[in-house]
Amino acid sequence: MKKSLTYLLILCLSLIISCAPENPHLPSESSSSEQGNKSLIDYLLKIGYKKDEIKIYGNRFIVQGDMEYNSENDYSINSINKQNINTTLGVNGSYFNVYIEPGIADLWINASKEAIERWNSINCNLYLNLVTSSSLADIIITDNDIRNISIQSNYLSIGSRPFNGDPGEYVTINNDFSGKEGCSNGRIHQGIRIADIQHELGHTLGLGHTEDDPNLWSYIQGTSLNDKETSLMRAGAACLLENFSEGDVEAIQILFGCEPDPNIPNLSAYIIGPTKGNNSGTYTWEVNVSGGMPPYTFEWKKSYTGSSTSYTTFGVYTSSYTAHLPLDKNLYLKCYVTDVQGTVVSDYFVTLNDDAGTGVFKP
Ligand SMILES: [Zn+2]
Repeated sequence: MKKSLTYLLILCLSLIISCAPENPHLPSESSSSEQGNKSLIDYLLKIGYKKDEIKIYGNRFIVQGDMEYNSENDYSINSINKQNINTTLGVNGSYFNVYIEPGIADLWINASKEAIERWNSINCNLYLNLVTSSSLADIIITDNDIRNISIQSNYLSIGSRPFNGDPGEYVTINNDFSGKEGCSNGRIHQGIRIADIQHELGHTLGLGHTEDDPNLWSYIQGTSLNDKETSLMRAGAACLLENFSEGDVEAIQILFGCEPDPNIPNLSAYIIGPTKGNNSGTYTWEVNVSGGMPPYTFEWKKSYTGSSTSYTTFGVYTSSYTAHLPLDKNLYLKCYVTDVQGTVVSDYFVTLNDDAGTGVFKP
């Protein structure tokens, strides 16, 4: 049986901000904050959450334990359109910068990097780009101590919801997590951390929980309603999550599209290195890559004759190669470069060996 799933989405379409007159009898700050809280409650109830699924901490709202809203944002939407899956995940675009706060635990830093790689390996337009400055970030992975907030102790982390076309601002790890009873042997292992960050990144990118009522949300057309056992986006399962299900991958590919993004320049690669050498030298060849979507992978092949069928792989998978020339032979190199979308390009390069015996290249 084909597995797939329904995703429940928030559609943060263009916002219409209504400017209600402020109550003159109340301090304006309190008035707008109360108004914001009331609007957000109304909105969350309207899209189908139940009152007891909403917890309020000042202007921060936590829904179903791990989805964070801020009442200063107006999440109201033009329409809830189940048919429109292409543009309305709640985020605009498919290339986002992610900053990992260096102050979070090393295990969580590593888990975050792995989770980002898993998102990027879905092989679609979607790309999460790690940046080293929070000022460049669309999404910040941090923890509750750094943010100075408290999170319910039975939730491993929370993810902010998209707002105004941007991804949710934070994935926040809960250092005070005490729900380990549900975890294997009461322990959190690295696989749980990775899957958990994957899940919360899903919330920042617009995904809800697969258990939610699809009639009240936008769901991804063409995916089934029955992927609740394996989906990474099922709720309340911090210690059971492993990785994207087949249905998750299918759904994310539908949402973000797998056609090449016209804004991304074509992948190209060229090799630089010595055009001549001899038996006694050591030489380095390097492939320069541009365009496409990083990260790239490399595979070098070589030949001593240059005929198209004579190239063989020799175990070098980095962007450069350092070696002697083959004894008394010319060296013909090819490098295949693959980007994260699976596009492959190659270049070839010839280094003539002055000791190759032809006499032509000797002084
Ligand atoms: Zn969740």
